[in-house]
Amino acid sequence: MNTTNEPNRDRYYITTSIPYVNSRPHIGHALEMVQTDTLARYHRQRGDDSRFLTGTDDNALKNVQAAEVEGLSVQELVDRNAEYFRGLRGPLDLSFDDFIRTSSERRHTEGAQKLWRLCVEAGDVYQKSYEGLYCVGCEQYYTEGELVNGLCPEHGVRPELVEEENYFFRLSRYAGELERLIESGEMRILPETRLNEVLSFVRRGLEDFSISRSQARARGWGVPVPDDSGQVMYVWFDALANYITALDYVTEGELYQRYWVENPNRVHVIGKGILRFHAVYWPAMLLSAGLPTPTAVCVHEYLTVEGRKISKSLGNVIDPTAMVDRFGTEALRYWLLRDMPRTEDADFTFDRLAIRYNTDLANDLGNLLNRTVSMIVRYRQGVVPQPGEATDAEREFERIAAAIPAGVESALDDFDFRAALASIWELVLRANRYVEESAPWTLSKAERGGDEAAGDRLDTTLYTLAEALRLLSYHLAPFLPSTSERIAAQLGIAAEAGAPSEAAAWGGLTPGVRVAAPQPIFPRIEVASSV
Ligand SMILES: [Zn+2]
Repeated sequence: MNTTNEPNRDRYYITTSIPYVNSRPHIGHALEMVQTDTLARYHRQRGDDSRFLTGTDDNALKNVQAAEVEGLSVQELVDRNAEYFRGLRGPLDLSFDDFIRTSSERRHTEGAQKLWRLCVEAGDVYQKSYEGLYCVGCEQYYTEGELVNGLCPEHGVRPELVEEENYFFRLSRYAGELERLIESGEMRILPETRLNEVLSFVRRGLEDFSISRSQARARGWGVPVPDDSGQVMYVWFDALANYITALDYVTEGELYQRYWVENPNRVHVIGKGILRFHAVYWPAMLLSAGLPTPTAVCVHEYLTVEGRKISKSLGNVIDPTAMVDRFGTEALRYWLLRDMPRTEDADFTFDRLAIRYNTDLANDLGNLLNRTVSMIVRYRQGVVPQPGEATDAEREFERIAAAIPAGVESALDDFDFRAALASIWELVLRANRYVEESAPWTLSKAERGGDEAAGDRLDTTLYTLAEALRLLSYHLAPFLPSTSERIAAQLGIAAEAGAPSEAAAWGGLTPGVRVAAPQPIFPRIEVASSV
């Protein structure tokens, strides 16, 4: 199918960062995956021609060290651990279209080498002997001034002193162009605190950086530097290239043209610790090679767990799959999207997850659904009635419903999942108040006593609640895909039915639809601080 000529269809390409696979995924990886998945699903729902990429960074030196500790070959270790990351698809309900592995795929190796050659041709690669402080955890050199008490600010370990002859990338040449890209908004950086951080870094002047290391220090692991058998690429050079190598950049094939070149939305989702690589190094490499730069870099903060930074050595790594086994996919997705602030770290605790779930999902949304379906079964034999004349109360629903698409759109454009969900939740909260105000049980009693007007009001009330739930199913689909489907199934309709403009409009539910037998979709979670 040729989608290039379809009118009014935006393009959207979104990626996660590719984690190194020295150990199993933790809840921080789940956060980034779920955020990215939500954006991908949202754009798909809007009808955008969308693509979602994730994968693993197999070439990090950390993987080499982890393999040595475990007594495995590096390939064995990365093959095994990469599958844990790919395996998050089911438990987290992810919808990625592609999963790239940087160690074993020719499209990547050859694509990264092609990018390197273009930077060489641009005159931006040169050799120089170098001595510096290197943190293997970060795969990054630090200056003395960047260390905290002589330790890496990310890992709290002392960097190694490394001396060797390496290839360098002429980053200094691109400070002006990068500043222009960022200031003009051609490359957005979200949220604004992170934009300011990058701008002040760029304005201090950029130093060239090393983009290779000796075969010996890399233990022979990594992407070989073209035309130099003694060096492999600095892992960040090849890792960043994954965003285009996965699109068949090496052949500049259809995917590359469609999602990187002829696409106004090239979006990266990353954690704050790797901002400089994505908002400075990567666009500079692309500028050097004469390729399009990203249009947005969305930056999330970090999660701590029960008050402590996630780290293997602290023994508090939280396995997202185990959490899903215990609480369910929707509980975890919802917590990550609803409770993660935009500009500060958040602390994950089991109690916080349980309380959020019980309040918003079990009480607010779950009860609304269960009551509505139960009342339609009890008062109207399971058939959604034809509504009567609308009063102010129903007109207010129309207004709230009409505001949701713009509210969600602007929030997600700002990389603000909390604001997006808050905009949807207006409808949940209004509907719950409406149940109390309109008291369908009283209307039913009056109707049975012969009051026809009460019967009409009951019809209107039940229709209004069912229609609110249909819209909730539609709007929640990118955030909580299986909840969306289960709401639709309870209402007896297909999830996400209709074109976006029609599906999001009030009054789309056809009277006469038969609802399913009521079934609670969010059993309460026990809150126990002893976890
Ligand atoms: Zn570090």
